[in-house]
Amino acid sequence: MSLITKIENYKLYINGEWIEPISGEYFDVVNPASGEVVSKAAAGDERDTKKAIEASYHAFPEWSTKPAAERARILRRLSQLLLENEADIARTISLEVGKPIQQAIIEVKGSAEYTLWNAEEARRIYGETIPAPIRNKRLKVIRQPVGPVAAITPWNFPLSMVIRKIAPALAAGCTVVLKPAELTPGSAVQVCQLAKQAGVPAGVLNLVTGNPVKIGETLLSDKRIRKITFTGSTPVGKQLLKQAADQVKRVSMELGGHAPLIVFEDADLEQAVASATQVKFYNSGQTCICPNRIYVQSSIKESFLVLFKERVGALKVGNGLDGNVDVGPLTSKNALEKVKSHVEDALGKGATLIIGGKEPVVEGYKEGYFYSPTILCDINESMLISNEETFGPVASITTFDSEDEVVEKANNTDYGLAAYIFTKDLSRSVRVSEALEYGMVGINDIGLAVVEGPFGGVKESGMGREGGPNGLNDFLESKLISTLI
Ligand code: ADP
Repeated sequence: MSLITKIENYKLYINGEWIEPISGEYFDVVNPASGEVVSKAAAGDERDTKKAIEASYHAFPEWSTKPAAERARILRRLSQLLLENEADIARTISLEVGKPIQQAIIEVKGSAEYTLWNAEEARRIYGETIPAPIRNKRLKVIRQPVGPVAAITPWNFPLSMVIRKIAPALAAGCTVVLKPAELTPGSAVQVCQLAKQAGVPAGVLNLVTGNPVKIGETLLSDKRIRKITFTGSTPVGKQLLKQAADQVKRVSMELGGHAPLIVFEDADLEQAVASATQVKFYNSGQTCICPNRIYVQSSIKESFLVLFKERVGALKVGNGLDGNVDVGPLTSKNALEKVKSHVEDALGKGATLIIGGKEPVVEGYKEGYFYSPTILCDINESMLISNEETFGPVASITTFDSEDEVVEKANNTDYGLAAYIFTKDLSRSVRVSEALEYGMVGINDIGLAVVEGPFGGVKESGMGREGGPNGLNDFLESKLISTLI
């Protein structure tokens, strides 16, 4: 079944123009449900990246000094245009990622909201006056944009990861060179088209697709780029951090996670199970905040498993664009292979398969990278799934007896992005949420990605925060101005 009406050729967007890559080459972008080529994207390299850096550098003085109210107006228009083009963008996202179209629509709406919030906040980048230690001195602090920024984004939320970076960057007065993931360039292209329409001036937002290593090295080694903001895997993040160190570039890193989800015996079990199902299988488990370890208190293990199996068994697997689908394919063959290897490893080391554990046949989509929603229990710490990010639709369950024990287990990882606890005991919720070494903790709640709040991790899950005032602040420098009068 063909899903494609027309194969697009995505060019590079540099200095306000859509241009051919210097290599003259394009690479295929594939729909993971069908294996079909949906578009071709420009194979940019270091030469194109240099041009984009040049453009961002020359556009910076004018954009960074534009009155905040004008930058805000442009971003508000961009927000509006995202909403007006919701159906088209959502279709692109679903085609490239494979995710259910309803989730793609939520992503577009959320991105419009994110853009609007940052538009509003652009007008509130306040400075400070500080009482000076002597009579004839005045101290003030102004906040200025860091400079041209490189933004490198992943494929799992191809639009929101782009918007999370460019909206605060543009609001703060920075210019941007954006490199989206090779698997999913389409919605980034659409954002640039809409940004142009919204009035973002030439050179303020530039897009380069292509070889990540060459583009990354060019961005990181150029002194005109003053900051790198990255979402992706921890190994790549570490490499970029090392490259950034040479010029002490500012960095924001939103890296991998290995979220624990803890269900205490006093939890509302129905709610805990419904939430665990939603947060675990959203986007086929390809989210950095999805739980990789589910800890259930021993006394409720059996009742939890009965309810969880029922819910997970009811999830409908299929092509995301078909509607009425809960779980789409994995986004790439590599992702599917990783999921299979984690399940195989766990079963080989004594895990019990409760449901799933196979590649389902989806009528009409033989070539798709589908994996059935899976529950494993009797997980132990020697298994890959206990230590690495699975990034797939596999829920792994371990039991625990005491609060101290589960906190220690949950913290026993190099990751520290998101954690979830389910309990009706107020004191316990306070104790455990404070003891968990994570950047974000949900208490009976899984909705951690809100524009009003800081999103990000501790330990090897990253540094810096996206969202909320902290998010904007990461694109600003504080300058002290001291005057003797
Ligand atoms: P994932 O496992 O989610 O694919 P990656 O860290 O591999 O995460 O990719 C996230 C983003 O980083 C993508 O845009 C990818 O192209 C880019 N990327 C991958 N390797 C490098 C690299 N060596 N230098 C710069 N960017 C890279």
